[in-house]
Amino acid sequence: EFDVLVVGGGPAGAAAAVYAARKGIRTGVVAERFGGQVLDTMAIENYISVLETEGPKFGVALEQHVKAYEVDIMNLQRASKLVPGKSIQIELANGATLKAKSVILSTGARWREINVPGEHEYRNRGVAYCPHCDGPLFKGKQVAVIGGGNSGVEAAIDLAGIVSHVTLIEFGDALRADDILQRKLRSLTNVAILTSAQTTEVHGDGKRVTGLSYKNRKDGTTHQIELDGVFVQIGLVPNTEWLKGALDLTAHGEIIVDARGQTSVPGVFAAGDATTTPYKQIIIAAGEGAKAALGAFDYLIRSSVS
Ligand code: FAD
Repeated sequence: EFDVLVVGGGPAGAAAAVYAARKGIRTGVVAERFGGQVLDTMAIENYISVLETEGPKFGVALEQHVKAYEVDIMNLQRASKLVPGKSIQIELANGATLKAKSVILSTGARWREINVPGEHEYRNRGVAYCPHCDGPLFKGKQVAVIGGGNSGVEAAIDLAGIVSHVTLIEFGDALRADDILQRKLRSLTNVAILTSAQTTEVHGDGKRVTGLSYKNRKDGTTHQIELDGVFVQIGLVPNTEWLKGALDLTAHGEIIVDARGQTSVPGVFAAGDATTTPYKQIIIAAGEGAKAALGAFDYLIRSSVS
């Protein structure tokens, strides 16, 4: 039985594992893909004290840091069920069951994709998902933001201050973002808004994005715009489908945590993009992972008295 079992091996899970192991307690990490989302990016320029690094390099560094301690790493294993109890059980897709006194859930999230030709081909070569991360790479350039909900409109406002021009593209008849955001967006002179517009393809020259095509859903006409970048902002989906019914999630599937990372189930903590903690970033996930591990340690000290 583990004292702390971490589910997920991204920045949140790695930080949780290091913090737990440094308490000298039996720690394990089970991860479908150790490293997490950072493996899917190139430039990382906002992890404080690391001026610049690359995603895969950062992923290796996470693993090396965890391996410097006595931590059982079970990579390429997917958790499929959590069973609460004095001894918490995590069932794996391969049929095995792991037991732990406390669990830290850090299964992260994934960006919803538009699923059109060119999106995958030009990912990290003009197609981006995170304005906080990649916005500065498009300084002075022309970009589109796909999605007229809160995250899309926030991204467009944010980018308008960095890039030369932003085209916001919404599939529906109207933007869905809060009124105050829409008003702010409409006040900006370097933003164009297209509604009833369905993105059909991202174009490139083999190296980088050069534009996109969209269909006007009202009259069926197709149009092409020239661009240097496309930010896809149609939703971030937490990897928590397997937890439904086991603990409290929001309507969007985020794990509800308190200030110590405690979930609705005693002994079960959570951290990172999978939780209600706002602003999904590496440094935030890592900090939350550390916090959840300290929360779990506190829980173990108190529960071992009885
Ligand atoms: P993740 O990194 O998502 O890790 C989740 C972990 O859980 C993975 O190991 C996964 O395999 C595992 N997992 C999922 N489901 C299960 C399951 N059922 N069983 C077992 N394991 C499971 N942030 C920045 O701060 N700066 C950047 O420059 C930046 N660039 C980005 C670029 C891209 C293309 C993307 C996609 C994201 C970027 N981000 C960036 C965001 C950042 O990567 C995330 O905020 C961060 O990785 C979240 O960490 P996490 O540990 O919560 O989750």
